[in-house]
Amino acid sequence: MICPFCRHDDSRVVDSRPADDGAQIRRRRECTECGARFTTQETTLLNIVKRSGASEPFSREKVIAGVSKACQGRPVNNDDLALLAMRVEETLRATGQAEIEAQEVGLAILAPLRELDEVAYLRFASVYRSFSSLEDFEGEIALLRAAPSNPASNNSLVKNVVEVNSAAK
Ligand SMILES: [Zn+2]
Repeated sequence: MICPFCRHDDSRVVDSRPADDGAQIRRRRECTECGARFTTQETTLLNIVKRSGASEPFSREKVIAGVSKACQGRPVNNDDLALLAMRVEETLRATGQAEIEAQEVGLAILAPLRELDEVAYLRFASVYRSFSSLEDFEGEIALLRAAPSNPASNNSLVKNVVEVNSAAK
């Protein structure tokens, strides 16, 4: 490990401890040249397996790209999206699996997106879960109404869903 202070290419581990319930290892290192100490963190690589069978490293940017269309015109800013992507990554890492199916990434997006904006959630869910009829929307809205996570936004819900639905035709 290269020393981040003097760029010397050797350092020794002076301490090593698990962090984040064992999902990470943190190592305290000391540069053998300048004596500076620094910390490194080791985590398993999180790979996403696509339907084609190909896999790629998990990317928060891709999560953001995936939900940004559903958030168009909604009061959702870049910080909200960054936080959402972080929560999705935490949820996926908490499974302890090194490989996760792309489908599960979509599932992990649903809950935090719903908390963020219910209209964006409905748009995303309608694509992700292939809503094919007005009944699908009605069923989902009934679920949202039964357990509102953000009651203040419910008033605009039906109007927006009708817009989304007619735009989909
Ligand atoms: Zn050094």
